[in-house]
Amino acid sequence: MNIEVAELELRPVTDFRATAAAAAALERDGDERTAVRARLIRADAALREGRTAEGGTLAQQVNAWASQHDDGYVLACSHRTLTHFHYYIGDLAGALGNAVQAVAHLTDDDPPAIRVRHLMTLAVVLGDSGSADEAARRYREALDLAATMGDQQQMLMILGNLANLAGQENDHEAAAAAVAQMAELHDRSGIPLDGPQLITMARVRLAEGDYPAVEEILRPLTQDIQYAHSTGAALPEALLTLSEAHRLAGRFATAQADLDHVRRLAHERDLRAAEAAMLEQQAVLHAAMGRHREAYEAHVEFHRFFAELQSAQRDAQARTLQAVFEATEARRLGEHFRELAHRDALTGLHNRRYADERLPALLGDAVARHRPLAAAIVDLDHFKRINDTLSHDAGDLVLQQLGRLLADAAPDPAFAARLGGEEFLLVLPGTGLAEAVRRCTELCDRIRGYDWAPIAGALPVTASVGVTVTSADPVTAAGLLAHADRHLYAAKRAGRDRVVSGRP
Ligand code: GH3
Ligand code: MG
Ligand code: MG
Repeated sequence: MNIEVAELELRPVTDFRATAAAAAALERDGDERTAVRARLIRADAALREGRTAEGGTLAQQVNAWASQHDDGYVLACSHRTLTHFHYYIGDLAGALGNAVQAVAHLTDDDPPAIRVRHLMTLAVVLGDSGSADEAARRYREALDLAATMGDQQQMLMILGNLANLAGQENDHEAAAAAVAQMAELHDRSGIPLDGPQLITMARVRLAEGDYPAVEEILRPLTQDIQYAHSTGAALPEALLTLSEAHRLAGRFATAQADLDHVRRLAHERDLRAAEAAMLEQQAVLHAAMGRHREAYEAHVEFHRFFAELQSAQRDAQARTLQAVFEATEARRLGEHFRELAHRDALTGLHNRRYADERLPALLGDAVARHRPLAAAIVDLDHFKRINDTLSHDAGDLVLQQLGRLLADAAPDPAFAARLGGEEFLLVLPGTGLAEAVRRCTELCDRIRGYDWAPIAGALPVTASVGVTVTSADPVTAAGLLAHADRHLYAAKRAGRDRVVSGRP
């Protein structure tokens, strides 16, 4: 019986559906430890099929069983599945913690094939966490083990990952070396390269400026219908790589046709990440053709789309984590992610959703305790100038630094939130109008006095602020903000870089 579950654990991931079906049978009929291991296989399959909450829950159960029974092997394997879970929901820190455990709990008695997989998982997460050297070390260890076992399929996969990692680090030499090894192994073994591996090879040629080679390598992916079916997700990525090559070779019309193809695919299959990457490249392509206005518009569209995508992902993450951790002692983690869903991705400040939920509660509290509450809306002056004369990226850096200045100006129980664009909210519970004006004036001084030159050059960065405060008359959150907004406009009209205040 155990032989059988061990065999299932070692099956290649491509067979995961059949493997999961066999595991379900073992989970019913096997002894306890077999059933638990079979459950973990089902967890892996659920994660692969996008049933993330279900996969996370199952893995969590197996992990709890393994620590109760002090079962190192099952502990290691369940930590690896939990790594995938955290990785899919975008929690790199959680993924890294689990990946380290997945390797640490293995012993020399465990199958080397399992160690190879765990090392690869750890390497992927290390690479994404910015520890490229540590990642490469794990890949090499895994590669040596796979070579000892004679597992050429696995070696190809590891080399592909190594090449991607090197490319990410702009280490073109290491990337080229890994790709050369891949090509050699492919020739020797006759094992076909899959879509992602072809793209890896093409990207190395792209970095070398060998554009015809890029086309040659990717031809099967874009033209061989059988290939396109087996690795459907790779097609948009292949087209984006081709488009880059065509653009760099000066073949703008072809590059545009590639992007149009990606746009169609992204819409047909609802591939949001591909759409974001397409928009980004569209901006670069317009710029290459000298169409600067279109380039700017595409750039703005990309940023807007990307921000929406990130916020949608955060929402999904928060919901999934809540579902998985609701019933466990790890509820803390769920709260951590609920907190993330309340954060603005660019500045790390609270977002509008948080403000919409929190402000009415604070207002109610202020009324109940007969305490004042001040609200200020802060809007950067002539911010468009920074975007237009410098770049959208420079604008983003200004917003990030402004976020830090605002956070400093809002110690507990106050809070700062980004309402949208370059407009921020400062809520000061327990603060009367005079004190709020003093603090906002100080904030304006800090903003004006900050050394922006490294980001904004000679352009000044200042802000206008509209401040208001609650009174004895009841006011809604929306009413309070409308008052602050009116004062903000007065501050703009009066020449900007100032605080205008008033009671409702
Ligand atoms: P005013 O002094 O009247 O407020 O002038 P302004 O230029 O700041 O005016 P407005 O509010 O109309 O312009 C805001 C600009 O902020 C427009 C938009 O392109 C830019 N913007 C909005 N969100 C972002 C962002 O996330 N990043 C960057 N870089 N720019 C953004
Ligand atoms: Mg503005
Ligand atoms: Mg504005």
